[in-house]
Amino acid sequence: MTFLVHQVFKSVADSYDAMNDVMSCGVHRLWKDELMRTLDPSPHTRLLDVAGGTGDIAFRYLKYISDMKGDGHVTIADINGSMLEEGKKRAFNLELNQDNISWVECDAENLPMKSDSYSAYTIAFGIRNVTHIDKALDEAYRVLEPGGRFLCLEFSQVNPTALRWLYDQYSFNVIPVMGHVVAGQWKPYQYLVESIRKFPCQEDFKYMIESAGFRCVTYTNLTFGVVAIHSGFKL
Ligand code: SAM
Repeated sequence: MTFLVHQVFKSVADSYDAMNDVMSCGVHRLWKDELMRTLDPSPHTRLLDVAGGTGDIAFRYLKYISDMKGDGHVTIADINGSMLEEGKKRAFNLELNQDNISWVECDAENLPMKSDSYSAYTIAFGIRNVTHIDKALDEAYRVLEPGGRFLCLEFSQVNPTALRWLYDQYSFNVIPVMGHVVAGQWKPYQYLVESIRKFPCQEDFKYMIESAGFRCVTYTNLTFGVVAIHSGFKL
C-alpha cells in the first residue's frame, strides 16, 4: 500500500495543483482556507503539517501569520520527495522566506520529530492515504505538546443520500476521465476516488481520533459532508 501511494503521488506531483483546481472547481481552496480559519494560528503556533505535499496548508499558515505582521515557522512532512520538490519550487516562486519552512521527507506513521514539540498538527487530504491510520494518529498525539491541537481536513461522507448518489457519479465517472484528459493519467485518479470511498465516515473517524487519546473531538462538515474538518486536543 505505501509503495502504491508513493507511486501515485510521484506520478501526479507536477500536475497535482492544477488537477486539484480542476477536480474541485477550485473549491479545495475554500476548504483549506476554512481549515486555517479553524486553526486561527498566532505567531507562537509551532505547526507541523503532515502529508503537506506541495505546501498548500503551510503557505496559508505563513500568509495568515504575515497578515498579523508576525513571523511563523512551519514544518512540512511528506513521504514523497517529488511532492516536496514541487512545494519547494512553489515556495521559491511565491518568494516565501525559506528560513520559515522546514521540509522533511518522512512517514506519518513514524515521524522523526521529538515528542511534545508542536502546538498544532494539520493533515489535509493525507490521512486516507496512510496505511495504518491509527499509527498516524498515535504519532500526531506524541509530537503534540499538552494543549496542542490536531486538525484534519479529509473527504468524508456526503449527506443527504440523494446528493451522495450524484457525488458518486461525479467521482467515479468524471474524475478519472479528467485525470486522463488534463494530466494524462487515469489510474492514479481512480485510486484517489477509491481511497475516498474507503475512508471512515465522520463519526467513525471521530472515534478513531478519540481512541488515540485526543479530547474534545468535534467535526464540521463542509459542502454537505464532501469534506469534514475533525479537531481534537491533547490535554
Ligand atoms: N496536504 C496537501 C494538500 O492538501 O494539497 C497534499 C495532499 S495529497 C492529496 C496527499 C499527500 O499525502 C501526498 O503528498 C502524499 O505523498 C502524502 N502521503 C501519503 N501517505 C503518506 C504517509 N504515510 N506519510 C506522509 N505523507 C503521506
